[in-house]
Amino acid sequence: MSTFAAGNLAIHVSPDLMSETHTDISKLGEFGLIDHLSSRFSLRRTDTLKGIGDDAAVLDYGGTPVIMTTDMLVEGIHFDLMYHPLRHLGYKAVIVNLSDICAMNAIPRHITVSVAISNRFSVEAMEELYEGIRIACEAYDVDLVGGDTTSSPKGMVLSITALGTAHPDRITYRSGARPGDILCVTGDLGAAYLGLQILEREKQVFLATPDMQPELSTKKYLIGRQLKPEAQLDAIRYFERNGLLPTAMIDISDGLASDLLHICKKSGVGAFIEEAQVPIHDEARLQAFEFNLDPITCALSGGEDYELLFTVDPKDLDKVRFMESVYIIGEITAPEDGVTLHTSGGQIHPITAQGWVHF
Ligand code: ADP
Ligand code: MG
Repeated sequence: MSTFAAGNLAIHVSPDLMSETHTDISKLGEFGLIDHLSSRFSLRRTDTLKGIGDDAAVLDYGGTPVIMTTDMLVEGIHFDLMYHPLRHLGYKAVIVNLSDICAMNAIPRHITVSVAISNRFSVEAMEELYEGIRIACEAYDVDLVGGDTTSSPKGMVLSITALGTAHPDRITYRSGARPGDILCVTGDLGAAYLGLQILEREKQVFLATPDMQPELSTKKYLIGRQLKPEAQLDAIRYFERNGLLPTAMIDISDGLASDLLHICKKSGVGAFIEEAQVPIHDEARLQAFEFNLDPITCALSGGEDYELLFTVDPKDLDKVRFMESVYIIGEITAPEDGVTLHTSGGQIHPITAQGWVHF
């Protein structure tokens, strides 16, 4: 059946695949690599309504469509156990998945949890992790229905899959934005990134002077946004109650700039953001100045806010205008207009995945 028969297998010295005759993954980047690898796959099944390329896949087994997503967190890459308490980590690992389900305008229902752990972790440590997972399940009315447990040579890897459902006419993709649509966001941006910068700074201080306990009581909002994000399920419920159907939606995991570019690319449109309308919490603004950072740069490039970025038809303007904690930050335009930031100073700058480009 295939040229991949077991008899053809041989033992190779696999690091050869990393030699200089091969392409460095950094040349493609994360999204380039996903595109490259997935381009070899075509969808074979009519029950796959959406495969790779959105916040979650959409599967139709003849009934309510099933929405499915998966995300992996790796110690040392996505979290540092020096400042991520295990209970918070468990909670956040669930939330980042539920956020992707919400980004499809769907309701999360089930999760599976897979963990790889080294012998450095005790039963009590795993109980803490799972307590965070349990609290998230309770808060979002989700059931834990399976997973996998294995050992790792070093550190922890946590992989969660979430399943949800949506009414077939209400599923919202990244690809539905049209010129003239209003661009909205469900909450303030940049705070989670600044929270991480504070935790990183305090870690360095602690490592240099272990007797000093950090004074973080004035930074609670920012650290909370980093350590205990929420999925925007209330917004999804509000949309349904008020008969509001966004034309496109994505959750902001990588930063406003990068995630807006995903909507624009998938929808074949341009967009502008009004800098003055981008919601930034007062504490985030102050903290950005303390770090000598531009608050708008933190909002555009920070990531991990897990707010929803969505577009609505102008006829629905009143429905979003009066929606609690929804901010209108810009508009969708024709593709030739590009994706730009209208600064408070009256300038127009192209937005790139890294944020925005100065001339
Ligand atoms: P998000 O930030 O919303 O979690 P990602 O940027 O991680 O989305 O992924 C974008 C799309 O690529 C999703 O449809 C995801 O399922 C898919 N994807 C990511 N990594 C892989 C992979 N290794 N193999 C197949 N599909 C992948
Ligand atoms: Mg997403």
